[in-house]
Amino acid sequence: MTTINETQIQQVQSRLGAEPFRLFIDGQWCEASAGKTFAVSNPSTGEQLATVAEGDASDIDRAVRAARKAFRSGPWADMSFGARSALLHKLADAIMANVDELAIIESLDSGNTITSIQHVDIPMSVGNLRANAGWVGKVAGDSTAAPVSANTVHFTLKQPVGVCGLITPWNAPFLMVLNKMGTALAAGCTVVIKPAELAPLSALRLMELVAEVGIPAGVVNLVTGMGGVAGQALVDHPDVNKISFTGSTRVGRSILQGAASNMKRVTLELGGKSPIFVFSDADLDAAAAAIAQEVCFKSGQFCAAGTRLFVHDSIHDALVDKVAAVMREIKPAPGTSPTSRMGPIISENQLRRVEHYVAEGQQQGARLVLGGKRAEGSGWFFEPTVLTDVTPAMSIHNDEIFGPVLSVLRFSDEQDYDALADLANATEYGLAAKIWTRSLAHAHAMARRIDAGLISVNGGGKTDAPRPFGGFKQSGIGREGGLEGIMAYMETKTVSMSY
Ligand code: NAD
Repeated sequence: MTTINETQIQQVQSRLGAEPFRLFIDGQWCEASAGKTFAVSNPSTGEQLATVAEGDASDIDRAVRAARKAFRSGPWADMSFGARSALLHKLADAIMANVDELAIIESLDSGNTITSIQHVDIPMSVGNLRANAGWVGKVAGDSTAAPVSANTVHFTLKQPVGVCGLITPWNAPFLMVLNKMGTALAAGCTVVIKPAELAPLSALRLMELVAEVGIPAGVVNLVTGMGGVAGQALVDHPDVNKISFTGSTRVGRSILQGAASNMKRVTLELGGKSPIFVFSDADLDAAAAAIAQEVCFKSGQFCAAGTRLFVHDSIHDALVDKVAAVMREIKPAPGTSPTSRMGPIISENQLRRVEHYVAEGQQQGARLVLGGKRAEGSGWFFEPTVLTDVTPAMSIHNDEIFGPVLSVLRFSDEQDYDALADLANATEYGLAAKIWTRSLAHAHAMARRIDAGLISVNGGGKTDAPRPFGGFKQSGIGREGGLEGIMAYMETKTVSMSY
């Protein structure tokens, strides 16, 4: 991992624009059957970056057939656990050997900062891939106790669920694809990936590495295209056994309905509007730095970001000043700039959405402390934004904005833990919650009461230990990561034998 220079960026950019990207089906690069393509833009400039094949239902069908064939027969179906695990490690090595190029592609495509991709997204997803490689062959069934005299035996087999459709978003494109793909492959499944149309390029480069390291044809297929067409076709396909989706709650809901057609297994990782509680005994500097950085990480386009800040009355003004001071120093700049700490919003549409929420919040009575408008530059930049005097009725408090926007509310000693938890839980979401306090009582009481899949106390969570990730309520169904993650790509078969 090195500091990337302008020449490297130019070289990658000209390669991306050189010729249209194609679909990756059955180990081959091919045009979309209807011959259609779509343009992918650089959100830091608003300019076209690449042209990509626009697949439809017939391309999805080709990809699913290839995945089914590879699942049933051939080298993947017969591969030993050791060989499968070694292949995943080989892919991890290949990714790390190309980390700078991948980071440039992803930064140009998604706008995320090059340093965060080099140091967070790629190492984290490769760490997960290696952890998944470690699970291969270790997830076992069991047998039930029976009297010695019984002439029967029952045992369970763990088997891969089959062909999996992986539908991913644009906010962490590489990490999302690799996390899902690595888990599915470790379980022995085959996959059809439908990456986000707004940022598909790092996934396309990943397919080149998949082929290069020798993952057999048909095991991994990728169809670029629109969500309502290619994504929907994958959800509706009768020969797909499972869909794993990350994205909006709205689409998650429609996937659940579509999956009902043939009872596909479903893992959904959806939106969030995560609360942060800062008690009066907290380390305010540490809390302020972490809160500010998290709101600006990926320009706020991060599902688990804490965006509803509840602060104890006695420290409200001090904390708001400190958070605003850190956020004021985070200047939006193109993701590929080595000094950029926050890139653009992914698209003009998303930028307008963020503007709309901030304006509506102020109309409803919130007070703008920082930011609140587009930042300079030809791309889709928005200033880090803090709003105080927010109330639970406001849309900025309730809706997932997906921009660098923090809304602040107060709490007092008159509110007990149940009342505070009611504030936290008064949302359709339940992905994450953050608590800042030196009191074990506060930490435990809140961690137990908040309905969320991920609880972080005093910034805890920065470790590479594989952990389940996912949410309560409308933040999703199931967990990704760790043992639960791989189990979600397996079926349990009970075998009962008499002799
Ligand atoms: P989205 O949910 O529309 O898109 C995510 C993925 O789903 C993309 O690959 C898309 O092509 C696909 N898709 C869209 N419609 C589909 C359908 N009918 N069937 C199958 N696949 C379909 O997300 P978006 O519109 O790009 O973003 C909208 C909002 O979603 C954001 O503002 C944010 O609130 C939320 N979001 C959340 C996450 C997350 O990590 N939880 C990620 C991205 C977006």
